[in-house]
Amino acid sequence: MKINKKIYICLSCGYLFDENKGDKKNKIEPNTSFLSLPENWICPDCGASKDSFEEIDFLDEDEKDKK
Ligand SMILES: [Zn+2]
Repeated sequence: MKINKKIYICLSCGYLFDENKGDKKNKIEPNTSFLSLPENWICPDCGASKDSFEEIDFLDEDEKDKK
């Protein structure tokens, strides 16, 4: 099974927002899409706004091993 994880990185501090994990600090449930986060959501580490985040490609460990 191919799992497509979407990870977003905070360009200010390098914090990774993993949609599968959510964000405990801001009470964001696991499996919450980044795009559906509230507009006032901020980076739990440095307080940067959503605008400071960029989507990054993340390959599941299993996919890496197949190469
Ligand atoms: Zn940050």
